[in-house]
Amino acid sequence: MANDASTVFDLVILGGGSGGYAAALRGAQLGLDVALIEKDKLGGTCLHRGCIPTKALLHAGEIADQARESAQFGVQATLDGIDMAGVHKYKDGVVSGLYKGLQGLVASRKVTYVTGEGRLSSATSVDVDGQRYEGRHILLATGSVPKSLPGLEIDGDRVISSDHALTLDRVPKSAIVLGGGVIGCEFASAWKSFGTDVTIVEALPHLVPVEDESSSKLLERAFRKRGISFSLGSRFSGVEYTDGGVKVSLENGKTFEAELLLVAVGRGPVSQGLGYEEAGVATDRGYVLVDEYMRTNVETISAVGDLVPTLQLAHVGFAEGILVAERLAGLKTVPIDYDGVPRVTYSHPEVASVGVTEAKAKELYGADKVVALKYNLGGNGKSKILKTAGEIKLVQVRDGAVVGVHMVGDRMGELIGEAQLIYNWEALPAEVAQLIHAHPTQNEALGEAHLALAGKPLHSHD
Ligand SMILES: Cc1cc2nc3c(=O)[nH]c(=O)nc-3n(C[C@H](O)[C@H](O)[C@H](O)COP(=O)(O)OP(=O)(O)OC[C@H]3O[C@@H](n4cnc5c(N)ncnc54)[C@H](O)[C@@H]3O)c2cc1C
Repeated sequence: MANDASTVFDLVILGGGSGGYAAALRGAQLGLDVALIEKDKLGGTCLHRGCIPTKALLHAGEIADQARESAQFGVQATLDGIDMAGVHKYKDGVVSGLYKGLQGLVASRKVTYVTGEGRLSSATSVDVDGQRYEGRHILLATGSVPKSLPGLEIDGDRVISSDHALTLDRVPKSAIVLGGGVIGCEFASAWKSFGTDVTIVEALPHLVPVEDESSSKLLERAFRKRGISFSLGSRFSGVEYTDGGVKVSLENGKTFEAELLLVAVGRGPVSQGLGYEEAGVATDRGYVLVDEYMRTNVETISAVGDLVPTLQLAHVGFAEGILVAERLAGLKTVPIDYDGVPRVTYSHPEVASVGVTEAKAKELYGADKVVALKYNLGGNGKSKILKTAGEIKLVQVRDGAVVGVHMVGDRMGELIGEAQLIYNWEALPAEVAQLIHAHPTQNEALGEAHLALAGKPLHSHD
């Protein structure tokens, strides 16, 4: 039984990842008395095992590719090898700088930061190491961990998760990546850049299967060109150890051998044994169920981030955490439009999208009401300079707003900012066509695509 605390906080947050710390920072800014409980490191998955370290690996891979391909640009350089210790030093330096900054931010906002493993002890309290933290409201933000498949044990050596892959002390000679979603494609891309022989195994018919099919096909073409192998449309059936590594079998009878297997089949919520069920919080397959204001079925408890069944992205966690803090502080809040959340796969090339796919638009508005336009990056000067290929695809409701933007090509992730304004402000192609885009930028391709959709193409054919 925990000691009773004298303080009753306005908000007690369990979990200091993207969702939890965003709620803490915004809540404190709005004058709430906030306690933030974290058992490991402030910043959670995104900062320590997710977004930031993976993007550092991918950037190191980009440098390797540029050195390898420098002759195409008339520059004489050679790639002598990858010093993995050096790559980790660079990656860890980025993470630790941001970690320090975040700790300073939380301290400066006067959030009560508690280190330790918390457990929900009632609808208004969390216990940590015998101490009880009472709150008028509780926010559950315990995030997610890598999942596996039934019978597939992650041993951390030959069969690894993204957590292990981020600290691997060597460049594997060969790797099988189980799962062709965002995380799988990002590791496949980074490893290939470092010189690994990579094969992706995806049970669905395409890589990045939630993207517009045309984006998936462009990524597949680019990966094929880079020598990244993949097997689509057949499920994993088993793995066995070999002398040199692992042998993976698929249901269609195919087998693949490699030094290691990365399991990237998704992430599951962290909710078991934390007192959620005892407090009466409704869950589904471990995910905490919430309404559009992130409220659970228990009046004093909200939940955000990877723990709830919305998009598992850091910026979604931030937005959901901010929404809860603002609601509790009495501000007017509006539900999140999840279609309007920008999504980026940071592989080489990148895949970026916002809004709905062409297929979904047809379902929503009727096939005859949907117009799709593709603008090839071949017509874009800056993309030519960078020697990247790809496409921007716009999905429009006939005579109406742009409801989907889908982009493939190096650095396309950086264009998603404008694309999300177009979607979220329900812009008409003619309105975007009127905006002047700087020449020569890749951003210009987005402008040109809208010029074409508005019926006045410049650097593309009618
Ligand atoms: C390899 C990889 C790459 C990714 N790349 C991107 C990307 O590029 N862009 C993007 O937007 N998203 C990316 N993500 C997803 C992103 O990291 C998550 O969506 C985000 O971290 C979710 O935030 P969260 O706060 O819900 O959970 P988490 O970040 O998982 O935080 C939960 C926190 O709760 C703590 N906790 C759990 N249980 C307890 C307890 N009982 N007591 C105290 N503390 C507890 C944990 O220690 C953890 O710190 C990536 C994820 C991975 C794995």
